[in-house]
Amino acid sequence: MASTDTATAEKPAPGPRPQAYYDGIKAKFAEERDLRLKYRPEGTAQYTSELTGSLAKYATDPYTDDFVPRAPIDDTVECLFIGGGFSALLTAARLRERGVESIRIVERGADVGGTWYWNRYPGAACDVPSYDYLPLLDEMKYMPSRLYAKGPEIFAHCQAIARRYDLYHLAVFRTTVTSTVWNEKEELWQIGTDRGDKMKAKFVICANGTLAKPKLSKIKGMESFRGHSFHTSRWDYAYTGADLSNLSDKVVGIIGTGASAVQAIPRLAKVAKELYVFQRTPSGIDFRNDRPTDPDWAASRRPGWQEARRMKAMRLREGDPQEKAELALLPREEKIRRQENANIDLMMRIHKRVEEVVRDKATAESLKPWYMFMCKRPCFDDEYLPAFNLPNVHLVDTHGKGITEINADGPIFDGLVYKVDVLIYATGFEVQKTGIYNEIRGIGGLELNEKYKDGMRTLLGVHSYGYPNFFIMGGYQASFQFNLTFMLQTQGDHIAECIKYAREHGHSTIDVKPETEEWWVQEVIKNRGKTNRNHDCTPGYYNFEGEFNRRQDGNYNGGFQQYYIHMTNIRGEMEKHFLFS
Ligand code: NDP
Repeated sequence: MASTDTATAEKPAPGPRPQAYYDGIKAKFAEERDLRLKYRPEGTAQYTSELTGSLAKYATDPYTDDFVPRAPIDDTVECLFIGGGFSALLTAARLRERGVESIRIVERGADVGGTWYWNRYPGAACDVPSYDYLPLLDEMKYMPSRLYAKGPEIFAHCQAIARRYDLYHLAVFRTTVTSTVWNEKEELWQIGTDRGDKMKAKFVICANGTLAKPKLSKIKGMESFRGHSFHTSRWDYAYTGADLSNLSDKVVGIIGTGASAVQAIPRLAKVAKELYVFQRTPSGIDFRNDRPTDPDWAASRRPGWQEARRMKAMRLREGDPQEKAELALLPREEKIRRQENANIDLMMRIHKRVEEVVRDKATAESLKPWYMFMCKRPCFDDEYLPAFNLPNVHLVDTHGKGITEINADGPIFDGLVYKVDVLIYATGFEVQKTGIYNEIRGIGGLELNEKYKDGMRTLLGVHSYGYPNFFIMGGYQASFQFNLTFMLQTQGDHIAECIKYAREHGHSTIDVKPETEEWWVQEVIKNRGKTNRNHDCTPGYYNFEGEFNRRQDGNYNGGFQQYYIHMTNIRGEMEKHFLFS
């Protein structure tokens, strides 16, 4: 293997490169990963999402103050959604189309929208083309205004879906579900909330989102900071001003450089008196090339265009069948080698872009990500890297260590105190869990996390044996889709069909058979074993911060098309895969 220095010094050159070039870069990737694992052997425990006591302000909803007291609800509905984001909206719309009327959405925020309700930080926008990301475009007869719609447009689309499908009057806002308990005698779920409700539901759809609970890095002394501070998903516009102009005389610090920070930083850089970016690991920044929607193209879309576009994208993602067949004949090591080399080429292109854009050499070096493509969420922005050429923007590269101490004035690194007026935590979200804030007890009172203690157990990430009439959206053991809303739509269609089937056949309950669940768990494990990616990657939430042993707790890696086919086949043999009563 080539030394690290060789890897760093070697510039990507056109044409085929010797394997030693790739091995040298892989050695550097491993070195950077090990550095981070050494700093944080505690894995996910480095973070807290229990934002109570002195940390409670980081979870408080800054977007509303209309906390209207109401009497507890004590009634029964047919379908109840925990969460009011895209998962609930899409599935509720499908249920409505199938004639289900008794629906309730219970949502922690003051409106629908989920991610797009909470994440209003400046620059928030989708990273998947809007024509794919925004769901129900056909049904809503809506065309997004640009290639990458901005947060307010997406939030407005969520609200429009709720209006179009008449979901608002079914929703109970500012209410957090705290317990979901199966009552075997009544064959109903009993739902408790933080508002003292005692709701009952025949079907429960756990639609609490994939990255919904803000988390903070546990940093010594953070409570002693005397300036202002908030989390990106609770943006304090009362402090910054709607146009951020209040920051023009402020020194701003931001901790973290993940996808949220990458979108917020260019906007902060334009207005802040000084901006300090505290970086632990850089993100890979690819081109965005955003543009307004071409009106002629929009006018030429025919009914069904979005579904056709999504299905085409799914087929294309799966690749050319002949190429796939040829690849399948190669030994496993060779397949991995080719894939890794292609990923390294991509990452080196990203390095090259940093060199071309960022003028200061040391800053440019610091902004280069040293890990394999997709170890961390790829980012797309054309203003992020140029922001580091501005005189008021300062990168504090902690080289994997992170900020470990904060005092009354601000973050401390390498013995230096960075005095800031406001500190923004762009430290992300708790790794997706079924039932955040919520205790879910199925048959025999078994708590879901207790069932999962030796690893998750589901069918398609949606059903779990012992939890009848209970459906999980957006959780693990489902397929990974960069376009998450397509995935959610697919799951929503499936759930609506399962409920329709149970209703039409006069069944009170539907539960997955244990043998079908076991088959799926083995499918997940088999497909996750294809590469060493989880182990080789630098720590992040994609690999549970380096907790490599959690093999069955991740996504199903057999490909979205295969996931979709499995789902369709399972629905074709309902009696074989499900228990009914
Ligand atoms: P992430 O979890 O991706 O990023 C958290 C950041 O905080 C990382 O850079 C992490 O560093 C850093 N960090 C944590 N602790 C410290 C510390 N003590 N000192 C310095 N840095 C620290 O959170 P995001 O909110 O950025 O993104 C979460 C996810 O939300 C994305 O991956 C994406 O899935 C989604 N998202 C989607 C968007 C879109 O579609 N447009 C936009 C924004 C977010 P390290 O890398 O070393 O762990």
